[in-house]
Amino acid sequence: MTLEIQEQVDLTPYNSFGVSQTAAYFADIQDPGDLRQAREFAGSKRLSVMVLGQGSNTLFIKDYPGLVLYMNNRGTEKLPGAGLLRVAAGESWHDLVKFCLKNSLYGIENLALIPGTVGAAPIQNIGAYGVELEQFFVELEAFDLKTGEIRHMSKADCQFAYRDSIFKQDPGQKLVVLSVTLQLALEFAPQLGYAGLAAALAGREVTSKGIFDAVCAIRSSKLPDPKQIGNAGSFFKNPVISRAKLASLRESYPELPAWDTEDPELVKVPAAWLLDQKGWKGRQRGGAAVHENHALVLVNRDNASGEDVVLLAQDMSSSVLQSFGIALQTEVWIV
Ligand SMILES: Cc1cc2nc3c(=O)[nH]c(=O)nc-3n(C[C@H](O)[C@H](O)[C@H](O)COP(=O)(O)OP(=O)(O)OC[C@H]3O[C@@H](n4cnc5c(N)ncnc54)[C@H](O)[C@@H]3O)c2cc1C
Repeated sequence: MTLEIQEQVDLTPYNSFGVSQTAAYFADIQDPGDLRQAREFAGSKRLSVMVLGQGSNTLFIKDYPGLVLYMNNRGTEKLPGAGLLRVAAGESWHDLVKFCLKNSLYGIENLALIPGTVGAAPIQNIGAYGVELEQFFVELEAFDLKTGEIRHMSKADCQFAYRDSIFKQDPGQKLVVLSVTLQLALEFAPQLGYAGLAAALAGREVTSKGIFDAVCAIRSSKLPDPKQIGNAGSFFKNPVISRAKLASLRESYPELPAWDTEDPELVKVPAAWLLDQKGWKGRQRGGAAVHENHALVLVNRDNASGEDVVLLAQDMSSSVLQSFGIALQTEVWIV
């Protein structure tokens, strides 16, 4: 089948901030054959190419002059081997979590209600409530836009880290994830390391459905629904600092929270706490604002442009740098 490539497509429905920018070219990708045709088309016109899932971690600040590959391939397959699933990149992550619950496959219930596609999940090694994708990851299949070949990448190849992977760096950016293979557990073992989740389940029998429901309830009470008000979840990563830096900051801010990391010399501190100290909740710049209940979440309050959001984010990170000497990094992909 010949791939249909649309021109001048409004990206408003394709990003959870709901900002209005246009893609010069746009292709709905359903299989590897579509990717081959898209690659040829982009090559013949010397276009830049970008990959888009559900746009829940993407902020457009300009019209995109190249070709957008909108990942829409589908399918969830049980592989031989207990608990092994291969899932197409265009599937919804939350639908996958529900599929696993229904099929008595355990582990990812803590990752319920994270918006976006399965194919985007490895890009920033999605995580929440004490669990990260990499714990279940086996391998992925990717289409290499440079060579036109399909590659298989192991966990080691992907170089997962906190909200990071090879795909966020060159040469990974030229890889389009086609499917992800996960190893789920056949026996339920609750992961209750996150204090808020353990508290929500206290005194109850803990089941995977119970965790799923509790995670959905906590997230819905804390995070704004992008369908109601445009946002991309946490805008900044939690910074990782040295223990020496923590000790020096605690001389002025004894209540500064911190969590251990795998590296005994480094700790993670909550970006939301730092921003709270600077009174960012609820503040607005242009059409963009900081959510009233969550200083990490920037929202499209009043017809914001991507530029409004970025300027607000820059003001926020400057204030944190000035007061704490910590440079915040964005979690959201800015295009
Ligand atoms: C309300 C809300 C809550 C959120 N909570 C969390 C959370 O708890 N934890 C968390 O980790 N994230 C969270 N996020 C961020 C977001 O849900 C995840 O980053 C998600 O994986 C993005 O999926 P997507 O399909 O929307 O990706 P997009 O925004 O479309 O793309 C994100 C990046 O992935 C790349 N990409 C997408 N698909 C592919 C592919 N098939 N191949 C190669 N590259 C690809 C894009 O090029 C881009 O660089 C939240 C977002 C929102 C709006």
